Amino acid sequence: MPFDATITSIHQMTPRVKQFVIEADEAFEFEPGQHTTVRFERDDPEEEDEQVVRPYTATNTPGNERLTLAIKRYDDGTASVYMHEREVDDIVTLGDLGGNLTLRNTNEDAVFVSTGTGITPMIAMLKQYLEVGTGDVDFFYGEKNQENIMYRETLDQLAAEHDELSVVYSLSDEDWSGLTGHVQDHLDDHLDGLDRDFYVCGVPGMVVETKERLDDLGVDDDRVFSEGWEDGEVED
Ligand SMILES: Cc1cc2nc3c(=O)[nH]c(=O)nc-3n(C[C@H](O)[C@H](O)[C@H](O)COP(=O)(O)OP(=O)(O)OC[C@H]3O[C@@H](n4cnc5c(N)ncnc54)[C@H](O)[C@@H]3O)c2cc1C
Repeated sequence: MPFDATITSIHQMTPRVKQFVIEADEAFEFEPGQHTTVRFERDDPEEEDEQVVRPYTATNTPGNERLTLAIKRYDDGTASVYMHEREVDDIVTLGDLGGNLTLRNTNEDAVFVSTGTGITPMIAMLKQYLEVGTGDVDFFYGEKNQENIMYRETLDQLAAEHDELSVVYSLSDEDWSGLTGHVQDHLDDHLDGLDRDFYVCGVPGMVVETKERLDDLGVDDDRVFSEGWEDGEVED
């Protein structure tokens, strides 16, 4: 059931991404990795479909009335522009949280592989894993350049605090001191063995390529987790 909630804080995370803190009357119930939906009526009478509904992933862990969302603006977008035009104290309509990408095993080593805003479920699951997981965790993140890396402070700080966490960034469009190229191409170089659970999120092409790479390396399908809709988006 859709419900109203109030934006209580807005923070510019990167040139194109804002974080929103949104508060409701009741505690949000969800598994880390799941998404809500932002819903509103489109102003443009020319558009056939008046109701806009877009998924956005909670980046916090559950337990209270607050939800954090990190939303990238596309200038020709609909919901992302709508959200970037909101202000503190505005009311937004959200849908119940759901989705398939959640932490499966807390006693297996875990690898999170994401690009762009695909990092949002990974951040929530990483926080959960660091609270309850018992193994090592490797976090791989790909972006174009340094200024667009989301959650860099959070990830660097968590890695400094947790010996069991290793964070690897790879940039596809900037020469720097770190790794370059597609992040999924660095998996086997940086992992000490592949007997792990893999969680993958990003644009469909990246998700499919990562799954293929893991398959080539001999990782079982049933240890690779993604939202699941991406394969249908990519043509052979
Ligand atoms: C399960 C799920 C969780 C998601 N979680 C998040 C999240 O946490 N944060 C977030 O910012 N987004 C997230 N998204 C994407 C989000 O739902 C919207 O698709 C995105 O904000 C664009 O919506 P829009 O209405 O602004 O653009 P639309 O009006 O739908 O599209 C307008 C333009 O944007 C382009 N575009 C849309 N999406 C992408 C994309 N991913 N990459 C490149 N170009 C694109 C289109 O090609 C088009 O040119 C998630 C999507 C899914 C399926």
